[in-house]
Amino acid sequence: MLLTLTTTHRPATDLGYLLHKNPARAQVFNLPFGKAHVFYPEASAERCTVALLLDIDPISLVRGRGAILTDYVNDRPYIASSFLSVAIARVFGSALGGRSSERPDLVDESLPLTAEITALRCDSETSVRSLFEPLGYEVNVEPSDTDESSARYRNVRLVCRKPLKELLTHVYVLVPTLDNRKHYWIGDDEVDKLIARGEGWLEKHPNREFIVRRYLKHQRNLTEEALARLRDDGDAGLGTHATATVGTASLGDLRIQAVVRALTDSGAVRVLDLGCGEGRLIEALLRLPQISEIAGVDVSVEALNRAERRIGLERMPDRQRQRVKLLQGALTYRDARLAGYDAAAVIEALEHLEPARLGAFEQMLFHFAKPETIVVTTPNRDYNVNYVELADGGLRHPDHRFEWSREEFASWTASVAAAHGYAATLEPVGDVDPALGAPTQMAVFKRCN
Ligand code: SAH
Repeated sequence: MLLTLTTTHRPATDLGYLLHKNPARAQVFNLPFGKAHVFYPEASAERCTVALLLDIDPISLVRGRGAILTDYVNDRPYIASSFLSVAIARVFGSALGGRSSERPDLVDESLPLTAEITALRCDSETSVRSLFEPLGYEVNVEPSDTDESSARYRNVRLVCRKPLKELLTHVYVLVPTLDNRKHYWIGDDEVDKLIARGEGWLEKHPNREFIVRRYLKHQRNLTEEALARLRDDGDAGLGTHATATVGTASLGDLRIQAVVRALTDSGAVRVLDLGCGEGRLIEALLRLPQISEIAGVDVSVEALNRAERRIGLERMPDRQRQRVKLLQGALTYRDARLAGYDAAAVIEALEHLEPARLGAFEQMLFHFAKPETIVVTTPNRDYNVNYVELADGGLRHPDHRFEWSREEFASWTASVAAAHGYAATLEPVGDVDPALGAPTQMAVFKRCN
């Protein structure tokens, strides 16, 4: 498989700086499945082309890597699509990530670019067009003569004016999407990668659902998780006709804003974030000088690692760092570290608990930790029919154990408040559907004494 990238930006040889690959030098990179060759067929000030040629070794595939590889044995080695993405990440990783030490100013600049992919495996010309055209590419598709036995291979030319990192990202995600076969790099973190790579374009793509399903190769759990996260990030996002009328803020943003408002209204200074996930609330609270301490608690170490990266804990000045604690812990166990806070937020975490463990959660939070203010958000199940893909009664996230209707949430809120001496108010978050309520429901509990 061959990918070439051409620019007519002046001087065109800046392409070499952006890719961290010297036009004067041909290079070879060893990959687990063969070799990637990088060279410049053309490098003048007017026009510069870099070529990435994958030389896949079918023997290394059958030997080392187990099950899926049998797929590739019968295939022409140079056309395994997902390997192109792996190679892009390895060989052009810094350009893909938008880093350039020598031409930082060019990273975000739209450049005249042409990408040509030889022998791309795909179902049809239409599928190629439907993925790239919405992103602003002029697309040219021709049958590939490299494989006479199959009509599945095409030569594709994409012309655009875009930052190089965007083009690389689109190719990275969409080439494997077009190839509907298994590949070996599906793991849980693929969802994270897809969400990260898709930032800024995938949630707006008219075929995002197709892209997510294909990219994650129809693995139902992974697909659902990715769609759930996009739905959250991309506002009333995927396939829903309940488009929000709340400007450009996503539901995730609105939720954080609502919780931050409730917390600041309460006058809290030390705040607990229970089930903090990747630290969105922590990040928002750190911006508020009146908040002196935030403790994020999550059962998942991976989530805490992500939170740490998101808020940039390592790079923080000491004074700032002292305001944050990231604690591994459970929502359902009494924990001395969680006592003494003014307020606690439990955002989209309750529904991850087994219903049988809810009582333990209530004891831990309302009886033992008992901060003055408690803010809880959870999905409103009534609203789910607005999401086309949940119309059959599915939940918003594969790890949700339940989702409550407005009535169920109101009755839980009232009974918990009464049992533990709190007064509670309910508030909708997000675009309110007159019949079904808002996508997110929030309760604010105030301790009575
Ligand atoms: N509050 C965050 C994350 C919500 S996702 C946000 O709004 O972005 C739910 C989080 O709850 C996940 O990070 C999950 O790891 C965590 N979680 C699930 N069950 C938990 C438990 N029993 N104890 C602590 N955290 C839990």
